[in-house]
Amino acid sequence: MAIGVPPRWRERAEHLRGATLIRVETHGKHLVLHFSSGWVVHTHAMQYGSWQVGEIGQKLRKEARFARLRLATERHEVVFFHGPVMEVLSLDELANHERFQSLGPDLLHDDFLVPRVFAALQQQGQREIGDAVLDQRIVSGIGNIYKSEGLFLAGINPRRPAADVSASEIEVLFAELIPLMQQGRFRYGMTVTLPDDLQLEPWMRNWVYRRRGQPCFVCATPIEMFRQGEFQRTTYFCPHCQPALTGSVEAGAR
Ligand SMILES: [Zn+2]
Repeated sequence: MAIGVPPRWRERAEHLRGATLIRVETHGKHLVLHFSSGWVVHTHAMQYGSWQVGEIGQKLRKEARFARLRLATERHEVVFFHGPVMEVLSLDELANHERFQSLGPDLLHDDFLVPRVFAALQQQGQREIGDAVLDQRIVSGIGNIYKSEGLFLAGINPRRPAADVSASEIEVLFAELIPLMQQGRFRYGMTVTLPDDLQLEPWMRNWVYRRRGQPCFVCATPIEMFRQGEFQRTTYFCPHCQPALTGSVEAGAR
């Protein structure tokens, strides 16, 4: 295997040379590549990193100088562009890695348990649910598009306090999100959440995401957008399908 890494990783990257990639693990947006030599590559793409996978000699989508990692076999090559995190670690280092120890349950792992996430959300008090579900310490793996789409499909208004969202609503949220995200793993480059029969135009991929002012596919109410949380992430929702239930009066009336 041929390897291209930034200079500070060159010495360690020698542990990967000639090794076989035996397993790929995801923890939220963290990706861990396990090699037969007992070493791993850990990457995180944040909002701007991306992968390109293809045959040797493929035309790169971005300039080669932006590549943080290139791994090549005799016939294939993968390139990781722009990612802020790329490190070569031993298995011990991985086991003691702070970033993984603080991560909440990953909704794409087999041992994912909704009640654990529900309990963590209950402790968030008045923090808005649309902000809380993006917190990777509470649940890892939900990105900004899936956040809006999942809350829409579960009928949960993103401004409701996390602690007021019921266990059954959280169950529905993950029952909607998990299959969508499972499929999403195999779709390269875009996040599609709309069923095929609603994808009337090629750009129609999502129920609410980036559809501000356009009619809801369910009730025709214009979709709204606002910014939420410490990082002011965009949140899209339908004010009719996701009513803003607040306080115990309405919750008690249901
Ligand atoms: Zn609607």
